[in-house]
Amino acid sequence: MRKILEGLSRFQCVAFPEARELFARLASGQNPEALFLTCSDSRIVPELITQTKPGDLFICRNAGNIAPAWGETTGGVSATIEYAVMALGVRDIIVCGHSDCGAMKALLDPGPLARMPTVALWLRHAECARFVVEENYAHLGAQERLAMLIEQNVVAQLANLGTHPSVASKLHKGELGLHGWVYDIATGAVKAYDRTSGQFLPL
Ligand code: ZN
Repeated sequence: MRKILEGLSRFQCVAFPEARELFARLASGQNPEALFLTCSDSRIVPELITQTKPGDLFICRNAGNIAPAWGETTGGVSATIEYAVMALGVRDIIVCGHSDCGAMKALLDPGPLARMPTVALWLRHAECARFVVEENYAHLGAQERLAMLIEQNVVAQLANLGTHPSVASKLHKGELGLHGWVYDIATGAVKAYDRTSGQFLPL
């Protein structure tokens, strides 16, 4: 906790005064460009990898960067998506998975989930991706299968987003873009889902 409190002190003494105008502007409202849905993993820092500032990204994080299909779970993720689209009018939603994702590893090797019943229930929302990989990519080695699952989970969550009435309506009007990314922790590289080819291509 000490490191965190020291950081807070540095923020208040150094970083905040340097960006005083920005914070004064943000004090009365926000107008973020995008909803960034990513994993809770500590190694993913959305503002760092996109070099954005406070106020730029509306962020939703959870284990496995999951967006449950509408109606399956009335929870924080669905409410966050609806608020971002309807109240804030974000123009884009980015679903960002990442390399070495613990949630995706648990889908491939569910043993440890026996002691984490809540995580196990949550990961049901990624079952579609797990099944696609099991049925189509069983021949791949462990590392390649994990990489494929990470990608297919992003694809599955993009599809889930489309079941939300708010998202479907804005997509129909052409007022919303959906983007699927996978961030590689070791290199900083990002691949984006290309709907035409069905592949993830370097950005
Ligand atoms: Zn993760």
